[in-house]
Amino acid sequence: MELPKEASVTGVQVAYYIICKRKLWLFSHKITMEHTSEKVAMGRMLHEESYGRKKKEIGIGSIKIDFIENKGEIHEVKKSKSLEDAHEWQMLYYLYYFKKLGMDMKGKIDYPLTRQRVDVTLTEEKEKQLEQILREIQSITGKDSPQEPVKLPYCKSCSYFNFCWC
Ligand code: SF4
Repeated sequence: MELPKEASVTGVQVAYYIICKRKLWLFSHKITMEHTSEKVAMGRMLHEESYGRKKKEIGIGSIKIDFIENKGEIHEVKKSKSLEDAHEWQMLYYLYYFKKLGMDMKGKIDYPLTRQRVDVTLTEEKEKQLEQILREIQSITGKDSPQEPVKLPYCKSCSYFNFCWC
């Protein structure tokens, strides 16, 4: 089965759509400050320390997932549940992506620091919502400029904080 053109977006873009539309635009236009962020390095360390090097990241087309287990379980490793909604939609996108490739997968979000695991299921309703989100991502990233910054609780820990507010 062929992927729809909306599936050219990445899982990170889906998460950023949920977190902040401005962040989505900045990231999509390669205005990226993540490489200077200690958080990204900490995320990588968390993955390696929790699961070792055996569970390797897997890249398929535009998506990159943390690891696959038990022949059909997609896992994403996250530090905390503070952005749980974004984590869920990112995983729903991965499930959708695999579904379009003809593979029925299960989604698990792992929070090793709190030893929690959250199951994610792609229902028909979520799939429709996701397709709308993918269209909106295309529309936002196709614009010439980002939306103005809006104060969000997340801003303080966002890598674009100085860019938006200083
Ligand atoms: S600092 Fe706030 S407004 Fe700016 S990109 Fe980050 S979340 Fe969005």
